[in-house]
Parts: sequence; structure tokens; C-alpha cells
Amino acid sequence: MTTRLTFLGTGGGRHTTMYQTRCTGGMLLEHGGHVLHIDPGPGALVQMNRIRYDLGRTESVIVSHCHPDHCSDAPSVIEGMTHGGWERRGHLYGSATVMEGEGGLGPCISKYHLGLVAGHRTVRGGDVVDIDGMTAEVTEARHSDPTTVGFKFHTGDGIIGYTCDTEFTEGIAQQYRGCRVLVQNVTTPSGNRIDYHLCTDTAAEICRIARPELCVFVHLGIVMIRRGPAKEAGICEERSGVRTVAGEDLMVLDLAEDIVFGRAETYGSEWYPAWSP
Ligand SMILES: [Zn+2]
Ligand SMILES: [Zn+2]
Repeated sequence: MTTRLTFLGTGGGRHTTMYQTRCTGGMLLEHGGHVLHIDPGPGALVQMNRIRYDLGRTESVIVSHCHPDHCSDAPSVIEGMTHGGWERRGHLYGSATVMEGEGGLGPCISKYHLGLVAGHRTVRGGDVVDIDGMTAEVTEARHSDPTTVGFKFHTGDGIIGYTCDTEFTEGIAQQYRGCRVLVQNVTTPSGNRIDYHLCTDTAAEICRIARPELCVFVHLGIVMIRRGPAKEAGICEERSGVRTVAGEDLMVLDLAEDIVFGRAETYGSEWYPAWSP
């Protein structure tokens, strides 16, 4: 059983999110027969329905920070994971703003929903957690929610890094050395550097330092989408020498010996047992 990453959404930022120019449902990471949902933002439920993924299979949820494009569908995903709230199961990992609230942000998960899961934990950069048998290093980010975290997931098929929403620093980039796949939240295109986010230029810097086998651009903002994410990924690849692709909604990566690209709609009930209407 290989490790599989399904991109429910590849949009990010306020305008992409509010008009759903791209979906913003986060990612499903299948590892060793377990499913982890990372950042269930707006559209996560719609996308899971579309690919007939039964969210009762989800065993853990991560909410990296308390911005709506990362957390809005989380309470419903928790209700799905706990089979309608009837079964205490699954684990939730979130930043301090997500879980407790801090500095005027959050919490975005109610005490009621925290009570549904089998376990929950507030995570900070530098923590190491075991998620259903997989070691996950919690990485640091520099974002407008100061408690934002990224991750390095140590799967049986290599390390998958997720920068989450962050701006560039040398130290942030170095955290992702050793990754096979690096998912970067690249909000804006080349020449459009903004505070607290990555643009194509800084994403290329991270690739030059971290040197993953493959980089995937997600969290695409509206200017990035207009500019052409595939072209921007090409700029990153040319500058860094790291193979870079622009994420697409419902794109799937299988981490076998090679990294194989697919589409979630084509997998059907073999991988995603039919949801009973
Ligand atoms: Zn975001
Ligand atoms: Zn954010």
C-alpha cells in the first residue's frame, strides 16, 4: 500500500476562497492504511462527496491555523470522523489559536467538538507527534496568525513537507531538507512578494535550499491563478532545478518508486468506499 496525497483544494487567500475560484478543502494523506485530513477549509465536504470519499474513514485531522481557508469545514469533518458524533474516535491536532484561541483569533473548534474526538493536542513548531503510527515533525511558519505551523510527515514512502502559510526565511526553508515531496503554499506569482505569504520567487528559494524531489504549488491566490500557476511552477523549476508542478483540485500523487500523478474522480470505490446517499 503506497502513500497517497489527494488535493481536495488548491486555492488559498481571501479572494480565491470567497469566490471558490479554486476549492480550498485541504489534502487527504493516506499512509499505511490510515487517512489524515490536513486543513479542511471551505469546500472540503463538497469535494469529498464528489469523489465519494467516506469521511468516516478519516482517523486524524490537522488544522494548521485559525484562518477560514484552513479551518472552516473542520467541525463537520470531526462530526464525520466520529460517525455523526456517536463514536469517540480520531485525533485532532491544531495550533494554539485553533484549539484555545490567542491574540483575538479563535478558537475555531468548539469545546463540544473537542469532546467528540478520542484525543486532541495543541502543536507548536519543534514538536514531534505520532499520527496513527506516522512520525510528524511540526515546523515553524511566519504568518499573520503567529501560532501557524507546518509539517514534515515521515511516511513509509519518504518525507512529505507542508510549508503552510508562511513568509520566507532561510531558517524556515532549511526545515524542509530531506523531503521527497514539498507542498508549498504559494499565494502570489513572481514579482508579487507580500507579507506573511510565499510568492514564486521565495518558493524557488525554498526549493534551492530544501532540494525536494518534487515541489507542488497549492494555496493559489487570485493573482497567481490569473497569471497561470503552471507557468509560475515552471519559473520555480528553472531557477531551483527542482521539479515543480502546479497543484490542481482533485489531483492525486502516489508515492511509489516513482511519483505517479492521477485524478481522484477515477479511483472510485476501490479506494474510496461509496458513501451511501
Ligand atoms: Zn491560507
Ligand atoms: Zn493563513
